[in-house]
Amino acid sequence: MRDGRMQGLLAILRLAVLTRDEKAMKKERNAMDMGIRGKRALVCAASRGLGLGCARSLAEAGVDLVMNARGAEALEASAQAIRDEFGVTVVTVAADITTEKGRAAVLSEAGAADILVNNAGGPPPGMWTDWQREDFIKALDANMLTPIALIKALVPGMMARGWGRVVNITSQSVKSPIAILGLSNSARAGLTGYVAGTSRQVAGKGVTINNLLPGIHATDRATALDTGVAEREGISLEEAKARRCATIPAGRYGTPEEFGAACAFLCSKHAGFIVGQNILLDGGAVNATL
Ligand code: NAP
Repeated sequence: MRDGRMQGLLAILRLAVLTRDEKAMKKERNAMDMGIRGKRALVCAASRGLGLGCARSLAEAGVDLVMNARGAEALEASAQAIRDEFGVTVVTVAADITTEKGRAAVLSEAGAADILVNNAGGPPPGMWTDWQREDFIKALDANMLTPIALIKALVPGMMARGWGRVVNITSQSVKSPIAILGLSNSARAGLTGYVAGTSRQVAGKGVTINNLLPGIHATDRATALDTGVAEREGISLEEAKARRCATIPAGRYGTPEEFGAACAFLCSKHAGFIVGQNILLDGGAVNATL
């Protein structure tokens, strides 16, 4: 009688252990394998915001990183957090990616990178009458000519190895230009045109180039733009944010985590047939389905 009860208890325990293991296995099976573990990525402008979101998602997929930003301290802190959390190798290069010297420093560490995420700070807002030739040159350097220079430096190696991924962080302003961001509209339109042609010239060698177009995401850049609106219109920062949220069907700002996940997918083995696309991540804000 006692033996019978003991065996019953053991059976229940075995079942509980099995259910727990099965649950863990199911979770493992459900986590999508990006197929890029052990690859090497250069992520530019990545100490904060969307660039950091991309770096973190790639690290989660097992990718080793070269991370860049100008400020060394914040960059190293973000890199260390990634090393601690995901166990990948992270090299940091504190440099201005929009300068030739900065790019040379970054490229010497990037070596034979398999993945390139192009990013830099966005140009300041203003009125069409504000911008002089020098302002345009600065915006073109940062948001058009820098990504093109890095593509030209790294894509030939990717083509030779038969595999590569490039993701350019641009803006929803490519599909729906924002009046006060004329410098950004101009530079990003130029990069978009370049990518449209180039992506189709390199796709046959296993290299994809695509653009991710952020709508409003909760980063320092969004706060800076909201602060400008608040000051111009004499309202609080909260009010400026609430007004902007009301223009987004999702009713909120996007997060760097969501943005990073989309980037990691574009860099994954699953995305080899996505070529030369401009993918909006904007909570439905741009009503341009057709
Ligand atoms: P963010 O939060 O201000 O972060 C910018 C990151 O880029 C920081 O790590 C910054 O670090 C680095 N950076 C800036 N200029 C750099 C340079 N010249 N060289 C190297 N690193 C540089 O900006 P974000 O919101 O992530 O925006 C990223 C890009 O997406 C920008 O081009 C922005 O215009 C565009 N975008 C953002 C949104 C949005 O809602 N957030 C919407 C549309 C488009 P350091 O300052 O230390 O260099």
